Amino acid sequence: MAGHLLPNAMLGILGGGQLGRMFTIAARSMGYRVTVLDPDRESPAGSIADAHLCAGYEDRSALDRLAAECVAVTTEFENVPAETLRYLAERVRVAPSADCVAIAQDRIAEKNFIAAAGLEVAPYLPAASLADLDGDLEPYLPGILKIARLGYDGKGQIRVRSAEDARAAFVALGARPCVLERQLDLVAEVSVIVARSGVGQAAIFPVAENQHEAGILDISIVPARVPTSVAERARAMAAELAAVMDYVGVLAVEFFVLAGERLVINEIAPRPHNSGHYTLDACSNSQFEQQVRTLCGLPPGDTRLLSPVVMVNLLGDIWRDDEPAWDKLLSQPNVKLHLYGKTSARIGRKMGHFNVLDPDLDAALQRALALKEMLAA
Ligand code: ADP
Ligand code: MG
Repeated sequence: MAGHLLPNAMLGILGGGQLGRMFTIAARSMGYRVTVLDPDRESPAGSIADAHLCAGYEDRSALDRLAAECVAVTTEFENVPAETLRYLAERVRVAPSADCVAIAQDRIAEKNFIAAAGLEVAPYLPAASLADLDGDLEPYLPGILKIARLGYDGKGQIRVRSAEDARAAFVALGARPCVLERQLDLVAEVSVIVARSGVGQAAIFPVAENQHEAGILDISIVPARVPTSVAERARAMAAELAAVMDYVGVLAVEFFVLAGERLVINEIAPRPHNSGHYTLDACSNSQFEQQVRTLCGLPPGDTRLLSPVVMVNLLGDIWRDDEPAWDKLLSQPNVKLHLYGKTSARIGRKMGHFNVLDPDLDAALQRALALKEMLAA
């Protein structure tokens, strides 16, 4: 990955959802051009990019064009076939690598890799077939059976209390490769985003504390309300994992905080992450600027937190008959609204988010919760 790619260069991104859109905005404001590959004609990123290749992720002629027209290609989601990244990497600079994405897109490979790196994960049992759930499951119960691939926002998971439950859940999930993991008592959930360059320079963002609703991220509170020693250990673990993976790009690491200040890695994402959207307004560089910088062979930028911040996700649920009451949000001087330009609102669909900045974290949180409630009313 030698050589800096400078403004005016054409960057490519696989996927045109909101993450691709925010990458595109960051890249374009830095003077780069962007081509989005996404099969959806109305994708959030495709509509604001310089070019939109409307094709599937395995369409070789579209990949050939992407490689020919771009100087570097990244991805906004982990489910792009690793084979697609390998194919592209033979033709153009690609970051993160196919190998890194392959680890992150399979919960079994992911847990195996993290555990082999000496970092803690929940006790887990890979289950490729029903027979794998025939042995003693006691160490993993009560547990959660998760499909190994393509799960997101709590989808593709079933909570199980007994071995019979686990086997029934395996069938209910389509008898696909799964992982059974022990359900842990969580004190908190936190995440860390790392940006790492091709020569190993890493910048680590402040720790976000994440609260979920119905399996979907609801709010992120930054800085996380955990002891400094826990926050620093989470950041060190995230950086270590990125280094062991020889990761280039933006890596998100989700943690469980357990009693006794124990930190367990839940999962990773080979891209910017919903819990890092606070960086758009509260850090000297956003996670998307970092994605541009690391893709272009530049050192990652400063990750300093400029203000305490609370991020609130806006799901399609609040659209109902009408647009939500944006005036009530926008009339607040310390609220920053981000909408993704999605044409139809559905229950559970991520439509946007807002960041509340305040020198007093608790005041930001109270304001964020009040605005969230107001929008839902
Ligand atoms: P997704 O890919 O859908 O984000 P996760 O594995 O992160 O899947 O699980 C979603 C949420 O479910 C987590 O953020 C956490 O709240 C809860 N969860 C998942 N695994 C466990 C576990 N082993 N113990 C306790 N809670 C869990
Ligand atoms: Mg998760």
